[in-house]
Amino acid sequence: MPDYRWLLYETIDDGRIALITLNRPRQRNAQSRGLLVELGQAFDAAEADDAVRVVILRGNGTSFSAGHDMGSKESVEEDGPGPNEHPTVSINGGTRGGIETRWLQEWHYYFNNTQRWRDLRKITIASEQGPVYSAGLMLMWACDLIVADTTATFADVVGTRLGMCGVEYLAHPWEFGVRKAKELLLTGDSIDADEAYRLGMVSKVFPEGHLVDDTVEFARRIAALPSVTSLMIKEAVNQTQDNQGFHNALNAAFTIHELNHAHWAMVSDGKAWVQTEETGAVGWKDAPPIRAAQKGTP
Ligand code: ZN
Repeated sequence: MPDYRWLLYETIDDGRIALITLNRPRQRNAQSRGLLVELGQAFDAAEADDAVRVVILRGNGTSFSAGHDMGSKESVEEDGPGPNEHPTVSINGGTRGGIETRWLQEWHYYFNNTQRWRDLRKITIASEQGPVYSAGLMLMWACDLIVADTTATFADVVGTRLGMCGVEYLAHPWEFGVRKAKELLLTGDSIDADEAYRLGMVSKVFPEGHLVDDTVEFARRIAALPSVTSLMIKEAVNQTQDNQGFHNALNAAFTIHELNHAHWAMVSDGKAWVQTEETGAVGWKDAPPIRAAQKGTP
């Protein structure tokens, strides 16, 4: 079992349910490189363990995940150079340069890992609370089922804050519907847990304070199925979605995402991969609060 620094891994119910808990509560579980690499190891461990039937992915603290880590001290140090540089910085395209580096590194650590978790050979349940923004959505969407409590809100703000066409794993049209996906990406507005339930993205909305226990109770019902049955149900639905074009559509959108990064790198003379204040973005400190998308409000 790997020695995890950024998450907690445990099993309950005689090993039938694995609990993976993102554990950077002070950073609202922002996804640093180290966290994502460990998350891959934790999902691999749950998959390899034949006792495990259901995996719960959850976050410690007030938010499941507020997105990619855009600048915590640990994250900056991981990107190097320096003694705390993460070993993945110099593999998987990291030494190549230009868009090749960006493309390959994002493919490995943002895109393909998310696809891999979506196809994990176990049933996965994402358990959501608080603001879940941008890359937080990717982690949640990789899971088979999503449950939330009444504090959960969901938004992808990379369009309005960073000049980007959504996160790397563009499942938005599949999760929100085509028009709602455009609306939420173009405005950066959020939806709450009830609206997510109405859209079919979230299966349950539990009262505040009940999320941890109710998620486990829900997982126990699913863990009671024969493992072959639950996996075949997952596979039948995922293969249906893939035949509807899910896999190819996400690959195409990821390529557009990299083109978007290349644009901002060009206009910033190589200084930034996203829109920044120098190229017209509203700074993070000046940005208005994220609004709730509401019928009747422009
Ligand atoms: Zn990106």
